[in-house]
Order: sequence, then structure tokens, then C-alpha cells
Amino acid sequence: MTRLDEARAALKKTFGYEDFRPGQDEVIGAVLDGADVFAVMPTGSGKSMTYQLPALVDPGLTVVVSPLIALMHDQVQQMRSVGIQAATLNSTVAETESRETWRTLRSGDLRLLFVSPERLLMDGCMDALRGAGVRRLAVDEAHCVSQWGHDFRPEYREIARARTALGNVQTVALTATADAATRAEIAERLFPQDRPPRIFVHSFDRPNIRLTFQPKDNPARQIERFLKHRRSESGIIYCSSRKRTEQLAETLRKDGFDALPYHAGLDQGTRMRNQDRFLQEDGVVMTATVAFGMGINKPDVRFVCHADMPNNVEGYYQEIGRAGRDGLPADTLTLYGLDDMALRRRQIDEKEISDDRRRVERRKLEAMITLCEGAACRRQSLLAYFGEASGACGRCDLCRGGVTLVDGTVSAQKILSAIVRTGQRFGAAYICDVVHGKESDQIRRNGHASLKTFGVGADKPVAAWRAILRQLFAAGAIAENADGYGGLSMTEKGEAILYGREPVQLRPDPEPKAETRERRRAAPREDGEIALSETDEALFQHLRGLRATLARAEGIAAFMVFPDRTLIEMARQKPVDLWALRTVHGVGERKREAYGEKFVAAIAEFLAHPPVA
Ligand code: ADP
Ligand code: ZN
Repeated sequence: MTRLDEARAALKKTFGYEDFRPGQDEVIGAVLDGADVFAVMPTGSGKSMTYQLPALVDPGLTVVVSPLIALMHDQVQQMRSVGIQAATLNSTVAETESRETWRTLRSGDLRLLFVSPERLLMDGCMDALRGAGVRRLAVDEAHCVSQWGHDFRPEYREIARARTALGNVQTVALTATADAATRAEIAERLFPQDRPPRIFVHSFDRPNIRLTFQPKDNPARQIERFLKHRRSESGIIYCSSRKRTEQLAETLRKDGFDALPYHAGLDQGTRMRNQDRFLQEDGVVMTATVAFGMGINKPDVRFVCHADMPNNVEGYYQEIGRAGRDGLPADTLTLYGLDDMALRRRQIDEKEISDDRRRVERRKLEAMITLCEGAACRRQSLLAYFGEASGACGRCDLCRGGVTLVDGTVSAQKILSAIVRTGQRFGAAYICDVVHGKESDQIRRNGHASLKTFGVGADKPVAAWRAILRQLFAAGAIAENADGYGGLSMTEKGEAILYGREPVQLRPDPEPKAETRERRRAAPREDGEIALSETDEALFQHLRGLRATLARAEGIAAFMVFPDRTLIEMARQKPVDLWALRTVHGVGERKREAYGEKFVAAIAEFLAHPPVA
């Protein structure tokens, strides 16, 4: 039996997982060989397993450095729930608990120790670790060492010193985000100069996450429509302002959803309570600002929505990446509108930053806008942004009900002409009314009803003109005036279009209505893996109830009892004894002992007395 086979056996026995996820075997193989390893793998690919399994099959202690103190407690609980001895040392741990940790450490039983970098570098800690002997150092969120990353932590710069002091122990560095510059810096700063690490870069693709974008018309309604078939699922809805998180949570609560807001302006108590409920219970919807999510490792988040356009593609990818870490199908919906684009452009213009930085941020924003207005497969565009080539996914909104761009030069000229003839000082709604020929008081007062362009677009509804204007704005043919009143003017590019020097491609109008698109999109559980018959679905919900009860009694998160996927398999396979339970995904030895009886009894009971339909 090779070392990797040994690890695979432990994966099954301890975690109840059938096999490695793509990429894990390579990395774990290298770690077991004793190599220094630097692995870049997307969120949800199971990075933690690359140090957890080696810690399980090799003797000795693995020290895990992580910046996310809030998460360490969960990580320890998760390890203990499958029977692995783990502990944490950080500023929030009580003295007595630390003493207990040091005791188990000296006894040699501890396999995993989670520490913050600050704590690791304290003299007392280094001495004790040297005394106890460290087999391996794992550095989580390794991009924190790089000033080019998005989350630089100066303390991370000192980790190399700790590595040396621990006798140049084997080091495993992990991150989900690293471009070439960040990668080079991580390799240089964490590893010995004369001993470069083995580097693994794994695909950014997350095929289980479905991507959908919609132009905003009525965000609250669009989101409610999206959620209609997703009752009792956990999800996150990102909003661009604190106020909106609260408003939306209230709207959704009225609609019967268990929705809670989260933003940095809430008092600490409420914030923590809401976060805990989201983590521990089933079916909580969090309406949140981007302050929420760093270090949220809940595996069964089934959807992520953006009620407003994300700031950049990196942020977007990180945020949707919080969905479907368990590998089951997950859904996303991203709303975007002219207002978002204008607001973000303005914010970047007004920021007090260097011109270089401003150029970078502008470029990033434009990439996000291009993704929103795109006409080719979303996944393909997204991966291309991260430098990865791929085929069309067949599942995003564009693959499913795609748009073929049509020549929109004449329509564009009508809009641009209206902007110029009204003096380049009116907003989008006004311009569209002029083109469509809607005679409002203001238009009459301004004498614009007698313009040549007034009513040239009577053949299309106002909404179609708004969509065209938005696309022209996205393409940079129209810009917002700096006066703060939202007036629009024509850019150089716009001029080229108006005078016929440059053609424009637009989405055909009317744009596919959000509603018809919604109907075309997935019915709730159509995806092969998650589809359950009606009876199985009822059993699944029944088992979820049991799981919630057990989790509450133990004060742990529901997914720590069993993940959704395990309950889905139980509902399908209906094991009624512990022997049959063995083959179910996610049932390792420890959990079979702890919960097995209760679940098989619940299944047997359900089969004997099925609920009356
Ligand atoms: P990452 O850190 O890469 O975002 P995690 O290490 O948190 O991801 O793993 C995400 C989830 O996947 C966890 O619930 C973990 O237990 C699970 N997981 C890891 N490896 C496997 C595997 N080989 N098979 C099934 N589930 C796995
Ligand atoms: Zn696609």
C-alpha cells in the first residue's frame, strides 16, 4: 500500500469520503513525500484536506497558521467531530484552555494546532513548540504574505523566521487567490531560498456553481422570484449599502424567508448572533455587505445573489465562491444596472489614490461591466479573466438562453443624438422619454417636445431604450457629468458612433424579460445530483429536522453533524442499519458511532409510517 493509498483509506475511514477531489491527490502525495509545497486551489476544492490527511497518517504535530482567528474554533470543532485531536492557540483562548492545550501537546497526542501568526511568534510559544517537536507547518491563506495580494498581513512576513527556528520544518502553503506576482512573492517569502517548493496551481473552475446575470429592473422582485424555489436553503445576498441589507431582509421576512442582515454598522452582539444563526442553522438567508463572508466556511451555502453589481471580478468570484463548497449544485444571480456602473465609476474618480492605482481600479471595474454585458458564456469569460482557457459551460444564462448581438448602430445614434440635442445635461430617464416621445411636463417646459429626435423611437417601449442606453454607457460611449446631478454626455467613442465611423453591437430588443428567463432557468432540483423524488425529498427534510435537533443539543453547526450531501444520500439509499450506513458519503467511523443509530432509526420509522401525502 502506497502512502497515498493509506491517505485514501483514512479519507474514507475518518471523513467518510469515497475519493479525493481533483488535485488533492497530487498535493497530498507531495506532502507525504516530505516536499515543501505551495498549492493554489480554488475555494471549496478541499485545501484543508491537504494538511489534515497527512497529519492523520503521519506521526507528529502539524502547526496550522491562519489569519482567521474567528474560524479556528470551528476548525478545531470540525476536527474533533471526526475524532482528530486538535486545538487552537490565539488571543481569544482562555488561559485554562491554553494550559490544557500545552499539556496534550507535550503528551504527544495532538495532531493539529491552529495558531495565529502573532501567537506563533511569541517566544514562549516557539520554545514550547521546539520542545514538543513540530513535524510540519501549514500556512493557510498564504497570499496574506504578499503586498500584491488583496489582504496583506505584515505578521505573515515573520512566518519564515518561525520555520527556520523550528529547524526548517516541512512547509505547506495554501491559497485560493494568487496571480503571478503574488505567487512569486509567496514562494520567495515563505520558503528557504535554496529549497524552492513544489508548486501546484489548480483550475479556478467551479463547475457546480451556475452563473446568471440580469439587468436590474426591480431588484427586490427579481430576488424574490429567484428565491421562490429555494425556501429552506441557505444563501447570501450581497448588497452595496447597509441600509439595503436591512430593507431587503425585512422584505424577505414578510415573504416568509428566514432573512437576517449583516453589516459592519450593526452592534457586535447582533452581528455575531446573525452570523451564528447563518452558520449553525438550515435555511437562513443573509442579506449582507461584503463585510460578510471572509472565513465563512459553511459548506452548504446553496446560492449567492448580488443585488447590486460587484466592484470587480476578483470580488465577484470570491463572493460567489462561497456557494457550493460541498460540491453540490449551487446557484448565483447577479443584478447590474446603469446606476451601479455610474456610481462605481464616480467612486473611483473621487478616491484619493495614486493615478496608477486609479488606472488599475478602472480597468478592474471595466472588466466587471464587460462580464455583465457579455454575450458569450459567463464561465468562459470569467475563467479567461483569470488566464484560463475553457469551453462554453452550457449552464449559464447565456449558454441556456443566450443572446446573439445585433447591429444597434441606428438605435445608438437616436440615443446619442437626443443627448446632444438636449444639451448633454439630462439623465437616463429623461433621454429615454425624449427618444420614445413621452411628453412629460418637464420635456414640454424645456421645449424638447419639438426636437427632431423627439419620438424617433416611438416603435420601442421606454424599457428597451433604457437597456440600449445602459449598454452604451457600459461600452463607454456615454459618460456621466462630473456635476453630481447624473446628467449624461457623449464621449469621443459616442461621437464616432453618432457620425457612423464606428458600428455598435447590442443585445436584441426587447431584452429577454427577466421573467421569461427565470422560467427558462432551472426548476429547483433539476440537477442530476440533487434531484430527489417526492418521497425522498420528504425523507430528506425529515432527516434535516433530526440533524437540527442534534446540532442544537450539542451547540454545533448543522453541517458538522452531517453535510447535506450525506442526508441526500441517506434519503436515496435508505439505510436501516449501521452496516448499510457505512457506504454513505460523509459517514466516517466517529460519526457513525455518534449519530448512526439515530439516523437509521429515523429512516426505519419514516419507512414504516410514511407521511400521508
Ligand atoms: P477550501 O479550504 O479549499 O475552500 P475546505 O478545505 O474547507 O475547502 O473543504 C470544503 C469542504 O469539502 C469541506 O466540507 C470538506 O470536508 C469537504 N471535502 C474535502 N475533501 C473532500 C473529498 N475528497 N470528498 C468530499 N468532500 C471533501
Ligand atoms: Zn456558459
